[in-house]
Amino acid sequence: MPQPHILKITEIFPSIQGEGLRQGKPTLFIRLSGCNLHCSFCDTKYAWEEGIDYSSDKVLEKIIKMNHHFPAEWVCLTGGEPLLQDLEELVRKLKKEKFKVQVETNATIFRALPVDWYTISPKPKKYFYQPEYGKKAKEVKIIVTKELDFEVIQRLREEYPEKTPLLLQPQSNRKWSMNLATKLLRQALKANLKNIRVSIQLHKIYGLR
Ligand code: SF4
Repeated sequence: MPQPHILKITEIFPSIQGEGLRQGKPTLFIRLSGCNLHCSFCDTKYAWEEGIDYSSDKVLEKIIKMNHHFPAEWVCLTGGEPLLQDLEELVRKLKKEKFKVQVETNATIFRALPVDWYTISPKPKKYFYQPEYGKKAKEVKIIVTKELDFEVIQRLREEYPEKTPLLLQPQSNRKWSMNLATKLLRQALKANLKNIRVSIQLHKIYGLR
């Protein structure tokens, strides 16, 4: 008998999507364990740990149960870095149950999955991303750290189609980071960069996970 495909999971929970263009939408989150980057500013360091073993059927069962109490159209696969693991089977099962699926990735790994939405967030120092995301990403999220240079924003804006928004997301909603985000936005406007905006982590303001 074939063994079920096992996923390492940190947590599964209902909340609102606090980040990006899908902000405010009820969403069921599946946080996959492990990350191939260890960013100093990471606010989900607990997801670097190994996590708990779940078969994709067990994940689906939990999601369906949760959805009875918290009806949500969307499921978000996040981490850590979710694409370190093979999510194809899980995504297909979620789609079969008519969920819309979002993946939040640092973009160092690309997997062609039948998802509805890739949110990519390339990380310092190189802000590297796999080229497939040039066409696939629905949004590009840039964390406004102290080290973020305007040249990075300029480069990403040039490399991504104009229809793909660039979001400047302050690091953990800190004041210095918000000030830097607005400063960089002004700079971008002066340089005539299109489709760029500041953002915020809404779930932290509401005190949600
Ligand atoms: S890529 Fe994301 S999850 Fe991984 S360490 Fe950096 S901020 Fe944390």
